[in-house]
Amino acid sequence: MADIGLIGLGVMGASLSLNMAEKGYTVAVYNRTSAKTDAFVAGAGGLAARLEGCHTLDDLVAAVAPPRPIVIMVQAGAPVDEQANALAALLARGDVLIDAGNANFRDTRRRVAAFAEQGIEFLGVGVSGGEEGARHGPSMMAGGAPTAWQRVAPIFRDIAAKFDGEPCAALVGPEGAGHFVKTIHNGIEYADMQMIAEVYGIMRDGLAMASAEMAEVFAGWNHGRLKSYLIEITATVLATRDAASGRPLVEVILDTAGQKGTGRWAAMEAEDLGVSATVIEAAVAARAVSAAREQRLAAAELFGAAATSGLGDALGDKEAALAALEQALIAGKIIAYSQGFAVMASASRAWDWRLPLGTVARIWRAGCIIRSVFLDDIAHAYGEGSDVELMMVEPFAAALKASEATLRQVVATAALNGIPVPALAAALASFDLWRSRRTTADLVQGQRDFFGAHGFERADRPGKGFHGPWAKGEA
Ligand code: NAP
Repeated sequence: MADIGLIGLGVMGASLSLNMAEKGYTVAVYNRTSAKTDAFVAGAGGLAARLEGCHTLDDLVAAVAPPRPIVIMVQAGAPVDEQANALAALLARGDVLIDAGNANFRDTRRRVAAFAEQGIEFLGVGVSGGEEGARHGPSMMAGGAPTAWQRVAPIFRDIAAKFDGEPCAALVGPEGAGHFVKTIHNGIEYADMQMIAEVYGIMRDGLAMASAEMAEVFAGWNHGRLKSYLIEITATVLATRDAASGRPLVEVILDTAGQKGTGRWAAMEAEDLGVSATVIEAAVAARAVSAAREQRLAAAELFGAAATSGLGDALGDKEAALAALEQALIAGKIIAYSQGFAVMASASRAWDWRLPLGTVARIWRAGCIIRSVFLDDIAHAYGEGSDVELMMVEPFAAALKASEATLRQVVATAALNGIPVPALAAALASFDLWRSRRTTADLVQGQRDFFGAHGFERADRPGKGFHGPWAKGEA
């Protein structure tokens, strides 16, 4: 009998199935459109012997050895409920349903509770790494009951990416914790990508660099502190030529970014928790503005280009300017990751999840889209604890002290030259706000008291609920 079942042979489900078969597991597979199931098994070559194509959910359940682990890898939202509910009637106590798609963690919380009532354990597992990761080793963040995780952990650890031999798959908490962590992963991914794109914008529009030259710079950075999958693929994308036109590919790609919603969810959850995640928010907003192409073109027509003050001069010669951009990116990255981890720490407190943030960093070191050496530093910073403000601890505090002035110079120069750097600017503003001894919230409190009698605390004596003279009609 099969070791595990899988529903949904799209990009991710097909790759995960082949990954499991390659590691020696027998997988019963089912897809809503049966023709896809047959084509998948027929095209699996030597792995087909470990893939059992099923045309009905009854067949799938019958094919898997109980207690059955069954992975659902379909579009997030209603399709997961449809498949899970249809399966529930066929499953027995002790079976484990695993939603490995990009679910909203609130849906996962609901499903875990609903299935628990039927004696079926439900795991919400965030999977990162795209098609390639799913096929050869993704990063996997699970949420649910430890008993359910123990049932599938051997398989998931086997198929996961490895960092120094350690599998990048772990149970990070109960109920929706795995999908929450995946959501924040994606939010950080948005921020990281946006900041890299902003630096590319400065190189392209401020330093007039050609794509091939930029590719070399990013490839060089990939040997330094910024070494990461995203910097590596940036170099590759910039170095790629379009076969049809012979031009650099990036010049023929339309500048409108798509998004499937996980970055937006990350920003919304941060807002909901009252945690500042402004770099993620800036990245989400920048994609939205890019997508509103017609309005952008109309605004470009109406306002024209900014009067520039000469980027090269402000940042020194080209070599100095590129070194400054690398430093700025390091600073921005520390602040963005610090914000993302702070959101997870807050969620952990709010829902009593006890998220092991060191483990989260460890399972992000390989397999996922934001994998990098930087995450190894974060894993060390957390160790076994979770009570760390990333930008306040070493090596990040020292790196930020060394690079914040350069981030400021880059953001200011970009602003003076009309080059939009919303995520880098958000990172800088966040840093400046966090280290403020005195913010401007004194005035905000005064305003709130004026129009709403909300009261304020005084800096010169204890107590709450003080009011300005206007409260008595004296103003
Ligand atoms: P995909 O290639 O578009 O495949 C979608 C799958 O869902 C197909 O098997 C489809 O079946 C099935 N499906 C859709 N609606 C269904 C319904 N109402 N009932 C039953 N089956 C239904 O999608 P994917 O890229 O593999 O993504 C699957 C999940 O993984 C999503 O949650 C996605 O967000 C997540 N994810 C994707 C990536 C990525 O890089 N692609 C990375 C991480 C996570 P039919 O063949 O019958 O249409």
